[in-house]
Amino acid sequence: MFSVQQAEALILDLVKPLGSEVDVEIVSLQQASGRLVAQPIVSSLDFPHWDNSAMDGYAVRWADIQNSQSEPLSLQVIEEIPAGCFPKKVVGLGQAAQIFTGAMMPEGADTVVMQEQTQREGDRVLILTPPKQSGSFVRCRGAFYRAGEILLPPGIQLQAPDVAVLAAAQCAQVTVYRCPRVVLLSTGDELVGLTDPLGPGQIVDSNFYALSDLVTRSGAVSLFHQIVADRPEALKAAIAEAIRAGDLVISSGGVSVGEYDYVETILQELGATLHIRSVAMRPGKPLTVATFPPTGDRPRTLLYFGLPGNPVSALVTFWRFVQPALKKLAGLTEGVSPLIISAQTRQDLRSDGQRETYLWGRLVPQSTGIEFSLAGGSHSSGNLVNLAQTNALAVIPVGETLIPAGEKVPVMMVGG
Ligand code: AMP
Ligand code: MG
Repeated sequence: MFSVQQAEALILDLVKPLGSEVDVEIVSLQQASGRLVAQPIVSSLDFPHWDNSAMDGYAVRWADIQNSQSEPLSLQVIEEIPAGCFPKKVVGLGQAAQIFTGAMMPEGADTVVMQEQTQREGDRVLILTPPKQSGSFVRCRGAFYRAGEILLPPGIQLQAPDVAVLAAAQCAQVTVYRCPRVVLLSTGDELVGLTDPLGPGQIVDSNFYALSDLVTRSGAVSLFHQIVADRPEALKAAIAEAIRAGDLVISSGGVSVGEYDYVETILQELGATLHIRSVAMRPGKPLTVATFPPTGDRPRTLLYFGLPGNPVSALVTFWRFVQPALKKLAGLTEGVSPLIISAQTRQDLRSDGQRETYLWGRLVPQSTGIEFSLAGGSHSSGNLVNLAQTNALAVIPVGETLIPAGEKVPVMMVGG
């Protein structure tokens, strides 16, 4: 049985990112949020585009004001330059132009005096306190970015600040990696659809809804979904169809040691290589990971995750292993693994010490630091009710049976 760390390393090693030329698409800037940049983005514009003022004040010549520290200097105001206007006059000896934040510096001037350090008298301005050096409060052309340099590198996920940068550089279209395509299968004779009548012994296929949400949040698209009966022929047909269509297939259920758990057998019959059959973790022990080799129709190796059916096990194994795999597959180069931070637990946290144990709850920021609050109620992997509002999982290492309230515990952040 693999440890969690061994399993993660093995899985990430199996993932080959979508990265070739054929795996990119061009989207409009408004559709680009959350997508991964596929090629270096370069602008032909300098930032700032021209010398401009960082303050409301007066554009002056340093040569005029540098020796006026002892008494106020009076300059003739020749022009007013609001943002968006092109200065018409050259600032000469003994002259100044009133200027506003972001406005273009006029020719002749090299320094800005803040409005607060001046006193206006008709068409003249008194410089009460000159700035300390030439170039003060001037943002020079190209000071932030020079045309031709790399503005954004490939492999980053576009967020609002990146979109702002691209908009400013007039990049109306962005080349991004296409999203990984995922097929979700829910196995189990007991499963019914969301609005189907609930007969005796039946439960709703809730895993599909949870996993579909997580797939989307991981930057992938879910192609189609199917509830599959616990019959080998049905499972075989469903998996065969899924591996033809997707880049990655996720099934839930049918990977334990029960009579009706056929997933591993079928994977082998279909020619998969089984890499992981169980992981030393709780919940999630029966996690199964397999690959299918490339075929004529599918140029890439396909990764298959057989998640345990218990709703909590399915989510925990998704967060711990599938999400990093999807992020790497999508082309993300950093921040692939789950973020694990240290928090102070509010309750005693218990484990049998045999397997790495994941306990669900919430991270609560406090002025004294971050605290972990364990979800109330049963921590059975079959209880999905107290999973609601989970945003973190406390991780109890192998060998530890108790982390007392008030102590630090590693906590894996999940969700938003
Ligand atoms: P299995 O891994 O197939 O042995 O299933 C373990 C438990 O998870 C059983 O109680 C199943 O009823 C439940 N389960 C399996 N699949 C799902 C699903 N898609 N949605 C909700 N519960 C499920
Ligand atoms: Mg089952």
